[in-house]
Amino acid sequence: MMKRLEGKTALVTGAARGIGSAIATAFVENGAFVYLTDIDDALGQEMAASLGEQARYLHLDVRDEGQWQSVMAQIIEECAVLNVLVNNAGITGFEEGCFVHDPEHASLMDWHAVHRTNLDGVFLGCKQAIQAMRRSASVGAIINISSRSGLVGIPAAAAYASSKAAVRNHTKTVALYCAEQGLPIRCNSIHPAAILTPMWEPMLGEGPEREIRMREFVQDCPMRRFGRPEEVAAVAVMLASDEAAYMNGSELNIDGGILAGTVATPKTASET
Ligand code: NDP
Repeated sequence: MMKRLEGKTALVTGAARGIGSAIATAFVENGAFVYLTDIDDALGQEMAASLGEQARYLHLDVRDEGQWQSVMAQIIEECAVLNVLVNNAGITGFEEGCFVHDPEHASLMDWHAVHRTNLDGVFLGCKQAIQAMRRSASVGAIINISSRSGLVGIPAAAAYASSKAAVRNHTKTVALYCAEQGLPIRCNSIHPAAILTPMWEPMLGEGPEREIRMREFVQDCPMRRFGRPEEVAAVAVMLASDEAAYMNGSELNIDGGILAGTVATPKTASET
């Protein structure tokens, strides 16, 4: 297999499971040395151990700037460079159950909690990565995991949609800033939708209704199925690699075609 990330050092946040662990796995398969980070230390350590010598686990709560600083210092001390940062850690706000998150009733506390992880976490990651990459003269790629929800409004998940829209925009600001500064650091965003990971568990639930809910969630997806974390990881590998050397400030949707049309897309030519 052609190794597209040979010699690169990467850091992936929220890498204990789901999309983050799939990205870390694909990076290792492509020759990178990967620091998997998360707040679930037991699962993160297990995941890193399963990837062998090219992977290592570190605790990193993306909301904490002090933890970002120590993780970056450790990476530069051990590897001398940081080439790739994937800001993947994110929450929906529904982790403890399906609370109200619409614009009229969402609590300020819940609104802040979602933004702290999804937006502050990405801001801190970009900030610390730019500084570490500059100091170590690394050629870098920052990949921010936004969402389809960052491109359209989501009445039932106002904070999630707002945080992901801000991630999309901050990605472009970082790309322009680094270019302006003459730094060889690219920054791009990925916008997944309906990727089957543990994040969906509170929404899918258990029992006989689970299958029905799964079908309902993807009924408006042209491909009529959930995506797989590995399908997002493949796009991350491409953005992290030197093949994407001219991609900067761009956004890539990976959503089975959901955003290619709308629910109002005409079904026949006569409806146009
Ligand atoms: P998962 O919930 O399966 O995994 C997220 C991981 O991030 C968990 O291990 C979680 O740990 C960790 N995490 C949560 N908070 C923090 C924090 N403060 N610091 C560090 N790690 C943290 O999510 P997915 O893999 O589905 O999602 C990954 C990214 O992709 C997210 O940003 C999400 O918004 C985005 N995305 C996902 C889509 C999907 O359909 N799955 C669609 C669109 C975007 P713990 O379990 O302990 O909380």
